[in-house]
Amino acid sequence: MKKINALAVIGTRPEAIKMAPVVRALRATGRFDVHILFTGQHKGLLHQAASDFGLVADADLDVMRPDQALAALTSRLLDGIDSVMAGRAFDVVLAQGDTTTVLASAMASFYRRIPFAHVEAGLRTESIDSPFPEEANRRLAGALASIHYAPTRGALANLLREGVPADRIVVTGNTGIDALLDASRRSPELPVPVSSVDRLVLVTLHRRESLGAPLRGVLGAIREAIVGVPRARVVWPVHPNPHVREAAAEVLSGVAGVELVEPQGYLPFVALMQRADVIVTDSGGVQEEAPTFGAPILVVRETTERPEGVDAGLAELVGTDPVRIARRLGTLLATSVRRTQTVNPYGDGRASIRIADSLIQLLGTRPALHVTVPNGNTTPVLKVA
Ligand code: UDP
Repeated sequence: MKKINALAVIGTRPEAIKMAPVVRALRATGRFDVHILFTGQHKGLLHQAASDFGLVADADLDVMRPDQALAALTSRLLDGIDSVMAGRAFDVVLAQGDTTTVLASAMASFYRRIPFAHVEAGLRTESIDSPFPEEANRRLAGALASIHYAPTRGALANLLREGVPADRIVVTGNTGIDALLDASRRSPELPVPVSSVDRLVLVTLHRRESLGAPLRGVLGAIREAIVGVPRARVVWPVHPNPHVREAAAEVLSGVAGVELVEPQGYLPFVALMQRADVIVTDSGGVQEEAPTFGAPILVVRETTERPEGVDAGLAELVGTDPVRIARRLGTLLATSVRRTQTVNPYGDGRASIRIADSLIQLLGTRPALHVTVPNGNTTPVLKVA
């Protein structure tokens, strides 16, 4: 039987983490030839995560430039991805999430009439500007996708509301939870000694729309909340973005109880989430993963496309107002935070298997997978024997 030729495009750390289980599940079926393309949108972090998962690229576009402008990045990505597509007849292209890599993959697939499978489809905030540019990236990629792998029922509802046909959506759970459950079974080790710590606050902050004054405000609030709390420790694996590093050094460097560390490998980072008493984050992936371990999560954003954690009372959307953050974090540090193992609303660890099954069904047994064209008609684009 002819194998299904799949192209998996991966640009950043979270894409590597969330696509690794998908690549593994596709390969495990024996029905796919999976070609892996790294775009290198965030080079260092991508390669760190890829090596954590043993993901090896067949090609690497290496597009990252210092302070890269979005338009230039998009055009480099579009050209680069298209040139890889020119060299091989792909039956399907997969990309995960909402980065510029994902948008360019969807566009390049559409231009070449290759079905685009969007992993983690249907996440939405109410504003196209927030988060920037991710909300626009995922809406645009969704408009070009042939099949939408929605992580939750909320994401399914968003897609249905936008008129995506129900038979083009599969609710899978988030593939990040597949990676997480696998990692937590491997008893990961903490990267920093914390035996003398009573209150461990794990921080990750990097969103583009918070850079500048909002980020400095959040860091000031963290500093204020932990000063004077005995045996409290803040651990922040600081994102390599120079604007984030500058703010971290300016506001938190040398503050007692604060440990600024390099970005961690996936396993040590999972160990930190397991051990944390409070998590302060603006990360999408961390909002999804952290509920597995039961620590309260303060989401320092004005909006979230991941409302399930907030709805379940596992996370709190605190915005970027320093007064509010200092107050909430102070309260959590002062009260004894009881850890309870929770049911993670984002996934059950089987998302990637569902995606592999669905693609085999769509590409392997049906006569053709269609690409929707802007006039609303559909064009059959392939048949895999
Ligand atoms: N992560 C990691 N090491 C770190 C910080 C985060 O491996 O030092 C992982 C984390 O577990 C999650 C992902 O990176 O799976 C989140 O990436 P990021 O916050 O950069 O992106 P986002 O999820 O916001 O798109």
